[in-house]
This record gives sequence, C-alpha cells and structure tokens, in this order.
Amino acid sequence: MRDILKRALPQADETALDRFETYHRLLAEWNERMNLTAITDPVEVAEKHFADSLAALPYLKPGMQVIDVGTGAGFPGVPLLIMEPKLELTLADSLHKRLTFLDALLKELGLTATLVHGRAEDLGQDRLYRERFDAALSRAVANLPVLLELTTPFVKVGGSAIAYKGDAAEELQNAKSAAFLLHVKLRSEELASDLGKRCLIFADKTAPTPKQYPRKAGTPNKKPL
Ligand code: SAM
Repeated sequence: MRDILKRALPQADETALDRFETYHRLLAEWNERMNLTAITDPVEVAEKHFADSLAALPYLKPGMQVIDVGTGAGFPGVPLLIMEPKLELTLADSLHKRLTFLDALLKELGLTATLVHGRAEDLGQDRLYRERFDAALSRAVANLPVLLELTTPFVKVGGSAIAYKGDAAEELQNAKSAAFLLHVKLRSEELASDLGKRCLIFADKTAPTPKQYPRKAGTPNKKPL
C-alpha cells in the first residue's frame, strides 16, 4: 500500500503517508461490518478517495474553520486534515454509524475534528453552526441547486461553499436561481485529473443567507430552488 500511496499522493510526507495507510486499513476493516464505501481496491482508494479529496487543499489555510457536509467515511475532510492538521475541521453527516467510524479513525490517526450528527437542513438553522465557517466542503452529496441550500448557510459572508464535481456545466446552469436566492456567486475551477472531468465549484457568499433557508429536512431535495 505504501508504494501505491506514494505514487498517488506525491505531496504527502512520511507522517501523512503513515496516516493514509492507517486510514486505508481501518476503512477496509470497518467496511466489512458497515457500508462505508463501494471502492475497496487499494489503487482506487488512493486515487478516487484520498487524492481526489485533496483537490481543495490549495484553497485552505491553517486555522481556517471548515465543515465537511455529508462526509460519509470522511471524504474530503479527513484527507485534507491529514495534510493540514491545523484545520479547524467539523465533519457532519446524517448517518450516526458513519460518525462512529470517524471517531475511531480520528483517535487512531491522532487527529482532532468536531463530529456532528444531523441533517444539513437542521444544522444550517442551528446558531452553533450557521454562518460560522470559512468554507463548507461537500463531495457526492446532491445536485448543485440542492447542495447550495444545504451548504451555503454554514458559511460566513466572504467565505465559500466548495463542491467537488465531475462535469458540472449543466448543474451550474440549473443552479443560477438557487445562487441568486442564497446570495452566492458561482465560479468553477477545472482540476487536472486522470479520473475524467473533475472540478471544484465555488459558491462565494456575498451577503447573509435569508432566514428561510435551508428549508425543513427533505424539502431542498423535493423542491430544489
Ligand atoms: N462525501 C463522502 C464521499 O465523497 O465519499 C460521502 C458521499 S455519500 C454518497 C453521501 C453522504 O451524505 C452520506 O454519508 C449521507 O449520509 C450524507 N447526507 C446526504 N444528505 C444529507 C443531509 N441532508 N444532511 C447531512 N448528511 C447528508
């Protein structure tokens, strides 16, 4: 696994490589007991989970308050924390058992993050989390119009929601009215990737999120803005 990781993550030092190795081992062990990921092949884990998660690293700085919304088995938040342990990271998911895995994982890695169980629709209306973060990350959680409603309420004015996407041209078109209603400006950065088309979509927040967003749990999916 070490050689695979070295190839996929050329920017990782020995400490980070040790942690990625531990992450891969725990993911494989826990995946036998609970459904964490369909990707189990070591090369694919290294490339499609670990390396892909690091795409936002150039945009994050030590000490930044970052939330990963719908983190699942920790992507993209945990690989980013391995590379930048000084991030103030919050990992949020609506499935409690995934947080049990993340708790065990972080202890084994010797890293600290805040784990939050809940739906983004509820957490985004909670003043503990609303407009508290410099960045809200998300990967493989929802289509962009839905995702903007789930993630932008967490972000301070001046911060950004950052969505990991494939070919997002159509989603960007469809997200125009959501962006207008949620007071964000959209831009996308293409990523150099061997995994087909990949991009990061930035929703830069220009004014506070109107109080009615996010709407109650389930509504953003049923009636996208
Ligand atoms: N981000 C991870 C990744 O890239 O591998 C997990 C992706 S998984 C397909 C989607 C995750 O989002 C699941 O863990 C699910 O529980 C979580 N999720 C979906 N809708 C959510 C919501 N409204 N609030 C919080 N978590 C949500």
